Amino acid sequence: MSDPIMSTYKRLPVHFQHGEGTWLWDTDNKRYLDALSGIAVCGLGHAHPAIKAALCQQAGELIHTSNLYGISRQEQLGENLTRISKMDKVFFSNSGAEANEAAIKIARLYGHNRDIKSPAIVVMENSFHGRTLATLSATGNRKVQAGFEPLVSGFVRVPYGDAESLQVVAQNNPNVVAVLVEPIQGEGGINIPPDDYLNQLRTICDDNQWLLMLDEIQTGMGRSGRMFAHQHNGIVPDVMTLAKGLGNGVPIGACLAQGPATEVLGAGTHGSTFGGNPLACAAASAVLEVLESEQLPARAEALGSKILADLADALEGIAGVEEIRGCGLLIGIELDRNCGELVTTALKHGLLINVTADHTIRLLPPLVMSDEQSDEMIKILSELIKQFLAVDQDN
Ligand SMILES: *Cc1c(COP(=O)(O)O)cnc(C)c1O
Repeated sequence: MSDPIMSTYKRLPVHFQHGEGTWLWDTDNKRYLDALSGIAVCGLGHAHPAIKAALCQQAGELIHTSNLYGISRQEQLGENLTRISKMDKVFFSNSGAEANEAAIKIARLYGHNRDIKSPAIVVMENSFHGRTLATLSATGNRKVQAGFEPLVSGFVRVPYGDAESLQVVAQNNPNVVAVLVEPIQGEGGINIPPDDYLNQLRTICDDNQWLLMLDEIQTGMGRSGRMFAHQHNGIVPDVMTLAKGLGNGVPIGACLAQGPATEVLGAGTHGSTFGGNPLACAAASAVLEVLESEQLPARAEALGSKILADLADALEGIAGVEEIRGCGLLIGIELDRNCGELVTTALKHGLLINVTADHTIRLLPPLVMSDEQSDEMIKILSELIKQFLAVDQDN
């Protein structure tokens, strides 16, 4: 049979049929422990009853009417999202890349409003912001960009985690209007910047009237141990983008703004046919309600600390393990060599993990993972890592 799907993905040889919480079952009814959550999307796990109920009810009432009309579900979600984030306003999109597109447009328009004719946005090495033309141009990974030149101009790149380098940009580039940065780099390898990095960026942005735009698409919705990762620093960004965990699998993204960024996009300057439709907003509202009522950000922090400690124990003294790092349930195990094949080995052993930046095993478990499931995850994974490093050593 010919495969009708474009070859954009290197897929693993499995089709999942159904799920429950942290478990997934494939079409042969084999069970898997999900330590990836569909890439940081299903924070509440699979088939969550509150999401199911919200979707079923909304699907029976109204799925879509377009943004030509008022959408109560969207207003309600906007109300709650701005309340918990201390932001002022929100634009809803259907994905992370689209949320970042809105942020990039806000930055450019903010620049033009201040008579900067060729506005530039500072972005980071090893960043990931999406696959559309503007967001792949903002992304700090040549593999994502190669073949798609000419890239969108207006981005200035600096090393991640180095606030000093932004001071240099501030002195030399009068066209800069904003900084776009991930609080923790996810795709880039779970890179955690110095503790006060975001505070320093906040100060530099204030001093230069730049917008601080945080891409919290992967770090947001409780995953880092706070509802939003920047809350570890006690700062508020000017713009924040969300997606992934926001709808627990129902496609929805958001670009939030406060202060000088709030009123930049006026009527007719941006839009989306699907963005913020009643069905997606019903799902996201249910996600927010469960995250808050079950205090899942705090659970992510506690479980994340336990996993880091347990991994350190299980992998103590193993040659080839470079670093184990994490924040909440964004966890990276960096090895001294390429370890992409571990994903397939883990799959065979009934565990879903990911490897990013070639060397780093990435764990993004659901926020609802139990201690017992975490123990099982670590038992399977640490054995596989030990075997992999031992066998590879002999070669
Ligand atoms: C996944 C991701 C994106 C892109 O989101 P899509 O929904 O795939 O467009 C952007 N930024 C970060 C930090 C991400 O992790």
